[in-house]
Amino acid sequence: MLDNDKTQKNFLEEIIEKDLQEGKVNAIQTRFPPEPNGYLHIGHAKSICINFGLAKKYGGKTNLRFDDTNPVKEDTEYVDSIKEDIKWLGFEWAVERYASDYFEQLYQWAVELIKKGKAYVDDQTNEEIRQNRGTVTSAGTNSPYRDRSIEENLSLFEQMREGKFSDGEKTLRAKIDMAHPNMNMRDPIMYRIIHASHHRTQDKWCIYPMYDYAHGQSDSIENITHSICTLEFDIHRPLYDWFINELEIFPSHQYEFARLNITYTVMSKRKLLQLVKEGYVSGWDDPRMPTICGLRRRGYTPESIRDFCEDIGVAKRDNLIDYSRLEGSLRDDLNKKADRVMGVLHPIKLIIDNCPDDFTDELDAVNNPEDESKGMRKVTFSNTLYIEEDDFMEEAPKKYFRLTPGQEVRLRYAYIVKCTGCEKDENGRVVAVHCTYDPESRGGNATDGRKIKGTIHWVNAKDCISAEVRLFDRLFATEIPDKVEEGETFLDNLNPNSLTVLKDCKMEKALLGAKVLDKYQFERLGYFSVDYDSKEDSLVFNRTCTLKDSWAKQK
Ligand code: ATP
Ligand code: MG
Repeated sequence: MLDNDKTQKNFLEEIIEKDLQEGKVNAIQTRFPPEPNGYLHIGHAKSICINFGLAKKYGGKTNLRFDDTNPVKEDTEYVDSIKEDIKWLGFEWAVERYASDYFEQLYQWAVELIKKGKAYVDDQTNEEIRQNRGTVTSAGTNSPYRDRSIEENLSLFEQMREGKFSDGEKTLRAKIDMAHPNMNMRDPIMYRIIHASHHRTQDKWCIYPMYDYAHGQSDSIENITHSICTLEFDIHRPLYDWFINELEIFPSHQYEFARLNITYTVMSKRKLLQLVKEGYVSGWDDPRMPTICGLRRRGYTPESIRDFCEDIGVAKRDNLIDYSRLEGSLRDDLNKKADRVMGVLHPIKLIIDNCPDDFTDELDAVNNPEDESKGMRKVTFSNTLYIEEDDFMEEAPKKYFRLTPGQEVRLRYAYIVKCTGCEKDENGRVVAVHCTYDPESRGGNATDGRKIKGTIHWVNAKDCISAEVRLFDRLFATEIPDKVEEGETFLDNLNPNSLTVLKDCKMEKALLGAKVLDKYQFERLGYFSVDYDSKEDSLVFNRTCTLKDSWAKQK
């Protein structure tokens, strides 16, 4: 169920309002807790919008906390990209923290739990621990080391910290109940030994807290009132509460919402990393990626992503959102913001035979019909233009209102032309289309009032600029790429035709000087954004999206 009605509060808003009303909390404090092991994706954007959005709405604050408890996978490259992406999305965190800031405190609390008889050092291997955990229907088996004395546990735990043991030789476990119906409560591991350099604490530690032990306590240290995470953590909540109760520290509470899933893409950092590492995409910011940096490079605006997150609402049950809804939010935003220009992706010459070779004209064109303040520009006209290859057909069906011998068409902003024929090369390929123009039709209307059905875009071949254009299709060919046949992986569902590069497109000269990430609507073709590879004298555009949802039709 989606809470789509914006006047209706979502369940998190209801909880918060109640907590504030009842005086359970004075001010709300949330956090966004990414693990710096990859770049953020659109699912994270959802979490960011919720965490920052709720705090903003209720006058509270949001911390950015890096959940850096696994040194093997984490890196400062990821830390930097995460910060950049959150800022770009338009949010500001109150303070920047790291779970690793709390390693000493977490260690001291672990000692406290040992002293209370609530934690013990286990010598079982990971494999043994897994085997002895039991199943959902049968109880687990107590570790033979479970009843070690407090003194022995304290001494062993200290030696773990001092590096006396190798990876996997020992763990620290909470002493709860090996028959607990919730598997997470069956003496969960609190610390493991990893002799690896951490991107912040370097070699200071060789024991690292598990997510479940670090997360709630970090929340508590920061006085997080509402710790919002995704649904899969609901079975971790009893453990979250258990640690906080046993330690008698600030009572943070965890609330879960459904993670965002979108069709035709994958959203696990592990899989996105695989796409990058194995070269299926050009990088984390490949415009086909669902990462924030990929969407940015593709031409998405922060507003469109925020609107999308707002629009889909906060769900309590897992659901799958159609990719077209993300594009819908984007179109709404770009329609207001993007200047219109003319560009030809598959150029073919249009020669106007009754127009003198030295004839030039400058016509008024509207920059953005949605925004008068954007004003007008001039587009130049001559006897040689470029038009789109498929705007001409030698033998056209009845309802074809573009160029075909004998038929009239309006050139956007300019004149009415009448097709007279075409030139072909030795292979029969059309190389130029010929026409005559009606000099009386300047601006696009016939003086005798005759109706012209088709309007096409064009550029002046005599002063246009050339550019590269990259067109994208879905990265995956199936709605749920993770759904695979036996023996296949999500990679088997990649769409082999997700990228088309057009090297010699023609654009009106108004685009000279376009800067990276500038956005335009190319009339009839879609929204385009200037790519990072673009240079002043060799522009490169990404098609952000088409003007209408072309995927819906294909279904
Ligand atoms: P992934 O599975 O992609 O690696 P993760 O959950 O391991 O994601 P974290 O860095 O731990 O990634 O996520 C930070 C926060 O973002 C967490 O609170 C997590 O619940 C949330 N989050 C991650 N993916 C989604 C998603 N698809 N929808 C909503 N929230 C998400
Ligand atoms: Mg995670």
